[in-house]
Amino acid sequence: MKESSPLNLYKFLPKTNCGECGEKTCMAFAAGLIARERMIEECTPLFDPKKQKKYAKKLTQIKEVLAPEVALIYVGTGDRQLKVGGEDVMYRHQMTYINKPPFAYDVTDAMDEADLVERVKLIHGWRKFYIGNWEEVEMVAVRSVTGDPDKFAKCVKKVMENTDKPLILCSFDPKVLKAGLELAAEKRPLIYAANKDNWKEVAQLAYDYKVPVTLSSPFDLDGLKSLALTFREMGLKDLVLDPGTAPNGEKLQESLHNFIKLRRAAVEEGQRDFNYPVMSIPLSAWFTTDDPVRGAYWESALAATFVIRGAGIMIRHSMEPHSVMPDMHLRFNIYTDPRSPVQVKPGLYKVGKPDETSPVYLTTNFALTYYTVESDLGSNEIDSYLLAVDTEGIGVQASVAGGQITPSKIKDSFAEAGVDFEKTSHRSFILPGMCARFSGELEELYGYKVKVLVGPEDSGRIPGWMKTQWPPKWEE
Ligand code: SF4
Repeated sequence: MKESSPLNLYKFLPKTNCGECGEKTCMAFAAGLIARERMIEECTPLFDPKKQKKYAKKLTQIKEVLAPEVALIYVGTGDRQLKVGGEDVMYRHQMTYINKPPFAYDVTDAMDEADLVERVKLIHGWRKFYIGNWEEVEMVAVRSVTGDPDKFAKCVKKVMENTDKPLILCSFDPKVLKAGLELAAEKRPLIYAANKDNWKEVAQLAYDYKVPVTLSSPFDLDGLKSLALTFREMGLKDLVLDPGTAPNGEKLQESLHNFIKLRRAAVEEGQRDFNYPVMSIPLSAWFTTDDPVRGAYWESALAATFVIRGAGIMIRHSMEPHSVMPDMHLRFNIYTDPRSPVQVKPGLYKVGKPDETSPVYLTTNFALTYYTVESDLGSNEIDSYLLAVDTEGIGVQASVAGGQITPSKIKDSFAEAGVDFEKTSHRSFILPGMCARFSGELEELYGYKVKVLVGPEDSGRIPGWMKTQWPPKWEE
């Protein structure tokens, strides 16, 4: 494993502490680079044409240190371009996983036009809001099942008319792949796949059309490595490895071990000639069953397994919510940075169309908590204000225990958000139930001019709570 400490990187920086990158010292900038929070281009002296001679070698050395352990491959172009691979660690807790594996949902050249267009539109438009982010399907995998280059070309054309999402062109027949590439090469699709039988022709296609290529050698890592070395020697380095995905429980253990071995080879053993992102194909679950429930079940189980175990990209089939949603959520969670909780910007938010009679709730800026409360208020049509207190992204219970939320911080947060309770008809706000012990101190801080209500511990119970507790009763 390469040594990528700030100290190791610092020795290649100019060491002038000039501050042009916005950091006070080169060491601080080095730490930012290692954490992937800064870009090398921000150290402008390194790119000064007048100093090119002085820094050229150092720049190369910095890039070597910063190169991810698993190679980074680009698929697609422009705003739709996707990063595949580019990971640095074996396990997420060692730092973070960085580029979530794109999901490519399949269409085939045997579909009739209406079905094809409908499915492409479904793939193109699929998105779900989850903890402050829109989760989307990133790609379309166009599969040749007819083996007919003309039919494949027609299918690729129709797909491209209905989506600008990046494509995977799937066939083991070089003639079929060529027919697709003639239409789609400019969009830099990934081609799937070269194997021991077709590698010469597919390598030529990848070279001619300048596209990334998948190497397939199911359940044979020696064969996969041999293919990778051959392609590398031919100057083809935008590679994705397909070590085979077990279609169900049979051979799943072997599949899993192969994925782990590939990640270990890249990250822990530093095999730079075999450090490419790995493709998983949960779609394979459908090759052994016609039962839609069993197929979707195994597809989802495989996707979950390989999201956790280092797949860099996936080809999938089932778009049923019970298959897509769990895997989307798992992927989101695995690919969030464990070093910093997902947060919303602290401040006052409106839910619905609140006015001076509307209740004022508060929660923390931990995204999961915030969006749960916001959703519970919004879906119950409770027009209200919602204050997200800055707890550095920590939830209510933990921040009460850890001191990230306190009565004085709540008062300051309302003041910073410009909330004047005298202008409301009720002069009150509602604490989460888990902050109940702050209520007395808060009323004291407000000189007993603001009523502090204690809401339920679970925001799902807010509608029931409001029936009996809202609006507050002031004693005359
Ligand atoms: S711009 Fe470069 S040389 Fe200047 S402080 Fe930052 S890292 Fe150091």
